[in-house]
This record gives sequence, structure tokens and C-alpha cells, in this order.
Amino acid sequence: MKKPFEPKLDWSAYDSYGEGDAYAQIPAKGGAYGKAASLCIGSRTCQRTDAGVMCPSFRLTNKDAHSTRHRAATLKAALNGELGEHPFISPDLADAMELCVACKGCKRECPNGVDMAMLRTEALAQHWTAIGKIPLRERLTAHLPRFAHHFKHIKWLSRLRQEVPLIAKLFEKYIGIAAKRSLPKAAPNSFMSSAPSTHIAESAREVVLLVDTFSNHFDPDIAQAALEVLQAGGYTVHFARPAKGERALCCGRTYFSNGMINEARAEAMRLVNALWPFVQRGLPVIGLEPSCLLMLRDEYLMLNLDERVPVLAKAALLLEEFIAREHTANQLYIELKPITAKALIHGHCHQKAFGAMKSMHKVLSLVPDLQVEFIESSCCGMAGAFGMKAEHYEASMQMAELALLPQIRAAGTDNLIIANGTSCRHQILDGVGRQPLHLAQILRASINA
Ligand code: SF4
Ligand code: SF4
Repeated sequence: MKKPFEPKLDWSAYDSYGEGDAYAQIPAKGGAYGKAASLCIGSRTCQRTDAGVMCPSFRLTNKDAHSTRHRAATLKAALNGELGEHPFISPDLADAMELCVACKGCKRECPNGVDMAMLRTEALAQHWTAIGKIPLRERLTAHLPRFAHHFKHIKWLSRLRQEVPLIAKLFEKYIGIAAKRSLPKAAPNSFMSSAPSTHIAESAREVVLLVDTFSNHFDPDIAQAALEVLQAGGYTVHFARPAKGERALCCGRTYFSNGMINEARAEAMRLVNALWPFVQRGLPVIGLEPSCLLMLRDEYLMLNLDERVPVLAKAALLLEEFIAREHTANQLYIELKPITAKALIHGHCHQKAFGAMKSMHKVLSLVPDLQVEFIESSCCGMAGAFGMKAEHYEASMQMAELALLPQIRAAGTDNLIIANGTSCRHQILDGVGRQPLHLAQILRASINA
């Protein structure tokens, strides 16, 4: 490494690591980033397949080469200069990271808390800098928030791609999107284009609903359901809105996942600015898409933003966490009526990583007569854009077939399927042809039953 390592993310939380024998193998270069990789002590919990969610790529391949341990070891070797002059363009490192779906299973289940999803993002961002360009497919998926509002105008193209296999093949060849994969379908109108204005507090129970890019453009009914549920509970619901003339807000997830840190930071700042007046007044920020809302509690703290972020992180809650919290505090005034059905629940990886499945269980158990069953599975395999990529399609579907899809098929067709993640819903739809619901839609159905 000729130039000193300049991290794109803020790794200072790991500065104090490495003061003892347990971390004796810290790479010579890489500073606190190297220390974060050195948390791995080789205990190989990431190579178990009997319980938990870590690590989907090891579960699929049963190979050390696709485990968290190997990724951490390769990263350390790269930072030590063992894989060539520039650590981030080493093919060995690319191979090690290839099947990491950034599920954060390791952050939660590795005994030492190795956060490979975060380490991988830094490595990817460094890789783009080193080669001086970002491929078209990665730029397209990252920039989704910029052109999501155009999706509804090109529905014909999605249809054509679906009906004419040659077009799907051309997409695969020139853009790298798997021909066998369906494309997300945009709604005719975004949720925020008709979201009600609430300037004055109509009650003391105020909340702000974070409508992410996916709920806004692709699943506005989920945002609508959440609005109706919160209003039924007597909450005044505010929305974070962009500055005048600016496009819709986004958390920056698509940029972050594609290693475009500056763009993720810019999106995050827009959102922080829009949410701050509400957070300052002590309002909870409620989110629907786990990977978007939980960015506020996790990735934002690594983006070198400002002192408002830790305060915002404390205010950010998933809808299920908020409702569970209100119920525990005896402040939930929503009348839920019986739904006589069995519901199979698939948890999003980030819900699992942040312990939100307990809240899912608690909230769904409030619905009378609803039989709740959690699917024991690891990552669904879609993982954002991972499963859309031509070279990952087979691995993505195989991950889903390890446990998730067989359990849904075995349960029959008269049960409900609940999945709060947009990627998980897409994978289930592609895999078994059934459209899962979001928790907000179940609660609305219970209120209206
Ligand atoms: S990543 Fe965690 S679980 Fe896997 S070998 Fe390293 S310390 Fe053990
Ligand atoms: S983020 Fe998920 S896929 Fe990647 S190393 Fe961790 S557990 Fe494995």
C-alpha cells in the first residue's frame, strides 16, 4: 500500500480495540478498520448450520471460503500486503466477498461481533476508488431513488422483458440483471404524492412516519396501511418531506450497499435535515422497511454525519417495535378484531440482527385468533440487489430453497405469509408465486375485520 489508508467510513468506534493478546494479529495497515476485521478469533461459529441465521453463504456452500472467518482472514491478509500491492483490487478478496449477502447475521451471532456487512462496504468503496470507476449495473441499482418515480412509465418494458425471453437475455448480457428474475413493479402513484399534510398537532400523541423509497414507489399500500393503523390508535402522523423542489427523501441504503459512500452520505443528510425538527420535539420516527429504518441506528453512525445522528438513532423504531413499546407502556389504544387464520412469518435479516423479531411476535400475538408461526430460516437470498444479479441468481434461489420456500410450500395456500422486507417479498413471490403482506397490512385488516 503506497498511500496511507483513508477509510470512507468512520471506524473510530474500534480505535480502542487491540489492547491485548486476543487481538494480536491486527494488520500492520488499515488502522481501526483493520482492528474491526481482527475481531475474528477463528472460533468458527460462522460455520455451524444447526441454529441461528449466520452465515447464509457458508450454509449454502459448506465451504470455509464462503464463511465470515475466511472473509475476515482474507481482509487481514490484504491489509498486511500479502495479496499484492493494492489490497482492494485483489481477486482473492473479491472471491472471499462474492457471496456475502450483507445480512448482518455475523454482527449478531458471531461471539466477537464481526460486522462483515460493514467491512465489505468499506472494501467495495475502496475497490471503486482503486479502479477509478463503478460498473453500470451497480450505478443503476444505487441510483434507484433518483429514477424510481419513472418506473411506472416503463411498465411496458418490464412486461416486454417478461414476455420476450430474448429481451430478458439482452438485459442479462448488457446490464447483468438475471433473465429469470422478475423486476419490481411500480405503483401508478407514489404514496407521498398524496400523503396528507399534518402541520398542527391534533393530539398529544404525535409520530413521524418514514416512507422509504420502496414503500413510496413500489408498495404504497403498506405506507397507507401503517398510516391507517397509527391514526386508528389516535396518533397524529407527520411525514418527513424533502426541501421544496427536491426529489423524494431516501435513507441512502441503495448507495451504501453499492459502496457509494459519498452519495449515501448526501442522502442521509437530506433525511436527517427533514427529520430533525420532529426528533427535536421528541417524536418517534417510525419505519416500515427494516433495511431502511435500521440504517438510522447503524450505518448512519459510521457515515461521519453530525451530532444529531445519535439522537436520531434513539428515536428510530420499526412499526412493530413502536407498537410493542406502546403496548408495554399501556398506551396502545387500537382495537384489534379477530383474524381466523394461520400466519407464517419470515423475518428480514436486519430485523433479526437488531432483535426486532420479538416485537413482531408480540404485536402479531395481539391479533385475536391469529395463529402465528415463525419460519426458521436464514437470509431469503434476495438481499437487496444480490439476487437480481445474473451471477448470483442460482445461489440466491438456492439460499431461499434451504428452508424458507419449502416451509411456505409445505404450509399450504390458505395461510397468510408475512414478510416486512421488500426483497424478501420479492423472493417469495418469485419462488412460490405468492404475495406476502407487511405487518402493517395485517394490523389494518384486523382493525377493519
Ligand atoms: S467470524 Fe466470528 S464466528 Fe466466525 S470464526 Fe471469526 S470469531 Fe468465530
Ligand atoms: S453479513 Fe451475512 S453473509 Fe456476510 S459474512 Fe456476515 S453472516 Fe455471512
